[in-house]
Amino acid sequence: MTTKSDKAQVYKSICRVCHGGCGVLVSVKEGRLVKVKGDPSSPMSQGWMCVKGLNSPEIANHPDRLTHPLKRKGERGGGQWEKISWDEVLGDIAAKLDKFRAESGAESIALGQGTGRHHFMHTVRFANALGTPNWYEPGLAQCFIPRISVCNLTYGGFVVGDYYSDTPPKCILFWGHNPLVSGPDGEISISVKRALDKGAIGIAIDPRRS
Ligand code: SF4
Repeated sequence: MTTKSDKAQVYKSICRVCHGGCGVLVSVKEGRLVKVKGDPSSPMSQGWMCVKGLNSPEIANHPDRLTHPLKRKGERGGGQWEKISWDEVLGDIAAKLDKFRAESGAESIALGQGTGRHHFMHTVRFANALGTPNWYEPGLAQCFIPRISVCNLTYGGFVVGDYYSDTPPKCILFWGHNPLVSGPDGEISISVKRALDKGAIGIAIDPRRS
């Protein structure tokens, strides 16, 4: 959905600065993100946003944000970088991959990535096309996949905290998780705060004081 507001186009979207997923209204002016605010029609966040999400235009528009390839100049650690074109960087990477594959075989190449979001199948496909099975992302080892597997084995399905029905939680166990900082998929900070305000007991198990 888009509407006109001060010549900015307003789009309904979802904040992904953490995994929580607050509903947002995004204002874009002349191709530039200018404002993000909570979407009151979101059934989960009901117009609320945290300070991180509200400041996402600053993240998107920050002059230090990396928006093009850089190549190191001189010694590693020297802090010297030069801007190069996408064609040049892709050519360099392809040449190195070809070299490693010819010298040591495709399985000498391992691909790693950050948390598994919707792009992760591209990494898997790329590894497959290269001919290496060596691909990893952290969610498979320590985070999301173990959580799903244990849920499936214990409950027969993937369960998440029920913050949104008529039966709010009476006790919430925060195991290595601080909802003030970030939320997993399906849980946003304000829903946790509202449950605690209604009397839920919070128990934190964390190596850090939270
Ligand atoms: S809680 Fe997460 S999804 Fe919601 S506004 Fe903050 S960063 Fe964005």
